[in-house]
Amino acid sequence: MQNFDPLPQQSLAIAGTDARFPVRRIFCAGRNYADHVREMGSDPRADRPVFFSKPTDAIVESGAAIDYPLDTSDLHHEVELVLALSQGGVEISQQTALGCIWGYAVGVDLTRRDRQAEAKKAGAPWDAAKGFDNSAPIGALTPAELCGPKHAGRIYLSVNGEVRQDDNLSSMIWTAAEIIVFLSRSWELKRGDLIFTGTPAGVGPLKPGDKVECGVDGLARLYFSIVSRRS
Ligand code: MN
Repeated sequence: MQNFDPLPQQSLAIAGTDARFPVRRIFCAGRNYADHVREMGSDPRADRPVFFSKPTDAIVESGAAIDYPLDTSDLHHEVELVLALSQGGVEISQQTALGCIWGYAVGVDLTRRDRQAEAKKAGAPWDAAKGFDNSAPIGALTPAELCGPKHAGRIYLSVNGEVRQDDNLSSMIWTAAEIIVFLSRSWELKRGDLIFTGTPAGVGPLKPGDKVECGVDGLARLYFSIVSRRS
């Protein structure tokens, strides 16, 4: 019988230290900034956010050169605030939700927009649109005890120096705490969970050669590039 070595534990850099944050799952909320909901053709007054997830091995860290993904000709950027939880639970209350957040980072919910349009039309799952290889670039985490709760602050993304997305966290329809409350009604949240909290308007295509920079006030910036697929 063959012996298998354990697979590596996925983790994220913590800004300013050599320590790493071990990652359990990646949850994502969609439709959380009204202007983006409208640009995607939906009604921002829907009664709750949509949720989907990404595999943890989709994480890529700042500085990466990412191969243009397979199976798309319409790769899109979505810059988002990412929460990292140090504790969880089920049916978490609004009062205790903020206390579950250990830290914050800026991330990009890379999306195969063509596969997403097909899935929406067919009522099919979003895995091919959202959960593909290298679909979760995330910058270094900043502990909440250093940066405070992120209720407001600029969130932006630029491509080759041109700003494409530029908004404020205060525009989020549901706050970080509310997203945790909603998620914990359907899943038991645990230490190590990451939560993407939705993107502002201005999503658009990326192509090989593009250099992406994004940030949220007070958090470490995230840089990556898209390169032609290496065989
Ligand atoms: Mn998104």
